[in-house]
Amino acid sequence: MLNDLMDTVFFNRFKELMVGSGAAATLISRLAGSTLLLFFLTRLSNLRSNIPPHRMAKAKVQRSIRPVRSGWLPELWASPKPFGLGEQHPNNFWEVFRAIAENRDNLGYAYRILDQGVCDGCALGTTGMKDWTVSGIHLCNIRLRLLRLNTMPPFDGKLLENVKPLQSQRSRDLRGLGRIPYPLIRRQGEPGFRRISWEEALNLIAQKIKASQPEQIYFYLTSRGVPNETYYAAQKAVRALGTNNIDNAARVCHSPSTFALKAALGVAATTCSYTDLIGTDLVVFFGSNVANNQPVMMKYLYYARKAGTKVAVVNPYREPAMERYWIPSDVESALFGTKIAEHFFQVQASGDIAFLHGTLKQMISEGWLNDDFIRDHTAGFAELRSLLDRLSWEELEAASGVSQQRMRDFARLVAEANRAVFVWGMGITQHTCGEDNVHAIINLALSKGFVGREGCGLMPIRGHSGVQGGAEMGAYATVFPGGLPINQENAAKFSQQWGFSVPNKPGLTTPEMLELALQRELEVLWSMGGDFREVMPDPELVESALKTIPLRVHQDIVLSSQMLIEPDDTVILLPSATRYEIPGGVTETSTERRVIFSPEIPGPRIEEARPEWEVFLESARRVRPEWANKLSFAGTEAIREEIARTIPVYAGIQNLKAKGDSFQYGGPMLCAGQKFSTADSKARFKAVNLPQITSPVGAFRVVTRRGKQFNSMVHEDIDASTAASRDVILMNPLDAQRLGLLSGDHVRLHNDFGSYDGTVLLAPVTAGTLEIHWPEGNVLVDPRARSPLAKIPAYKEISAMLERASKAERREPVLKV
Ligand code: SF4
Repeated sequence: MLNDLMDTVFFNRFKELMVGSGAAATLISRLAGSTLLLFFLTRLSNLRSNIPPHRMAKAKVQRSIRPVRSGWLPELWASPKPFGLGEQHPNNFWEVFRAIAENRDNLGYAYRILDQGVCDGCALGTTGMKDWTVSGIHLCNIRLRLLRLNTMPPFDGKLLENVKPLQSQRSRDLRGLGRIPYPLIRRQGEPGFRRISWEEALNLIAQKIKASQPEQIYFYLTSRGVPNETYYAAQKAVRALGTNNIDNAARVCHSPSTFALKAALGVAATTCSYTDLIGTDLVVFFGSNVANNQPVMMKYLYYARKAGTKVAVVNPYREPAMERYWIPSDVESALFGTKIAEHFFQVQASGDIAFLHGTLKQMISEGWLNDDFIRDHTAGFAELRSLLDRLSWEELEAASGVSQQRMRDFARLVAEANRAVFVWGMGITQHTCGEDNVHAIINLALSKGFVGREGCGLMPIRGHSGVQGGAEMGAYATVFPGGLPINQENAAKFSQQWGFSVPNKPGLTTPEMLELALQRELEVLWSMGGDFREVMPDPELVESALKTIPLRVHQDIVLSSQMLIEPDDTVILLPSATRYEIPGGVTETSTERRVIFSPEIPGPRIEEARPEWEVFLESARRVRPEWANKLSFAGTEAIREEIARTIPVYAGIQNLKAKGDSFQYGGPMLCAGQKFSTADSKARFKAVNLPQITSPVGAFRVVTRRGKQFNSMVHEDIDASTAASRDVILMNPLDAQRLGLLSGDHVRLHNDFGSYDGTVLLAPVTAGTLEIHWPEGNVLVDPRARSPLAKIPAYKEISAMLERASKAERREPVLKV
């Protein structure tokens, strides 16, 4: 009754007021609502940071290379209209009201999660609603949208007695049904799932694992707020089962960054801190849209702009939210928005290496390099220079899609900076040349000595709160804990430490696992979170692969579409506890290498949901009872103690016990004093060749992009930053004119892997390149195309032909089971 009342009076009314447009009354209401909430947020921000309100407008940055100018700066305003009314941009105030309405049955717990927990969204990192970069509130729409996953009650298990009606639902709707209440099982030929006990479930799993060869079992851990303790315990359990077949979501985001950074600098993580962004001379974003994926980064950039930092973006699409952003927790920016990026360099898809080579070639010819740094602190420059000498400007222009003059403009921007931070995202890594793309960015940074100094750094920005720690904990097919390569020597070291035999051959990555399944060679797949059918290229092929696996275990907090795929023999669902429910608290590692403690938060519990780390170890004990005492931890504190002993850079994690406890491994800056962790302490340039992109004549280059979503979790059909619906194909007006197309026309993209029906939306995207949403665009991704070392799928490297399609011909959306 109360809920109904809230629905009608609160939710719908606010939605009407905040989302509606046009009518003066609505605008006034929207203005009033925004003002009220702005007042609340800024008061909250001040109270929580103990700053007297009258001092609130002063700089709130913890440390800055150059002072942040105080007072308002109208020259940075995005629009004179209050709250950007009538402008196309996300309404972050509406998100707060929405979160309140959505969590209204559990508001106290929801608030405690926000106030005490570490955000389970992206890897920027918080403690409660604060961080270590700026004082004041740290909160964004992603975290608010994820909140409900933590506060939802369980669904009625009867719902799964027949899965047929659920198979046509969108993943978003499946997630919204509620938490998984208890273990469930479905056998081949059965219409749905029935309840089983944990005892029965774990016995069945152990029996099947015992009956399988170690190379025929596979474990995948997603991020979804997964903490370091879970990753560490899981990889130890899996290795006790005799296999390195364990991988995590880091594989599909920054695995190429890890390889390239390690090879070039000897470290495999972001070298600087977020504070280095604020007041440096230049920040460049390569293939990264932080406005969408790490929204609070825009607040850091707001202060950076107030300190005089220039912001540039290298990307095929001129992302509107990177150009102008309304930061809700700052009065000035909330009211008038802020111009963030002022320089855009629109490369074509897969054009980054050519663009970066051209930039460096220009800098060499102009004598704009840091010669002293190159001489004293690097190796390999001569080879790179000779490669650049051999490349003609015609080649570089054709391969980058950018004119020599624009490459010169970028070169000048870089040359004029004494300090700079380079940030990159999936637009760089998700290519067959992902590692080389990262090397090309590192080359440019090294040419100016932008590493190991204050205000300088290389930052592969992470999108999931768990992925930085996931690979570092060793939940990875290609490395042991601490990033140690999988070989005989390291296997022997861990065998001795853990007291059981550790396998010495690298395991399978996820694409390789799917290939094995297609050959009917995989016996067990244990997937903790994730949804391969959504995330991996070629969903139909993925579904076929999953259908061949005799035992699939899906351990998660909510339902996903892959759980509903028909069993070959058995599918078991296991209910997980969230990070906020784990006794003893847990830790995550942020993009800036900060290891942060997130306490257990009192609140309602799903009775049978269990911490995932316990379940992995208990299963391993059932398979290997002789090692039971080596596969047990008294709690998460004991896991942290072992992590500290096992991974040297994580020493100190054992001391994290309360909200706010954290440390940055390696300190605020890696490679400090420009000493690199390589054999000769020098950084390495790498002469990377231009990628050979072969496309049929007339084909477009197509890249996948995010809309209003968090990783693969779509939150809204319309992206408020671009006004784009999920099916749009962003197209340059020149391409549209050439083909006689207009916004709204129905077209079909097709290639050897599938076809994608969409609607043209004219947009500032490079000519010859199209952008479509991910994961829907996975139907066009070549499932065999992956980078050589990291084996990341090439989600941003699609080649497809375009043809007109009538609306009647359009196919159903692809993301159904
Ligand atoms: S920016 Fe990232 S870490 Fe910060 S609140 Fe948003 S999702 Fe969480």
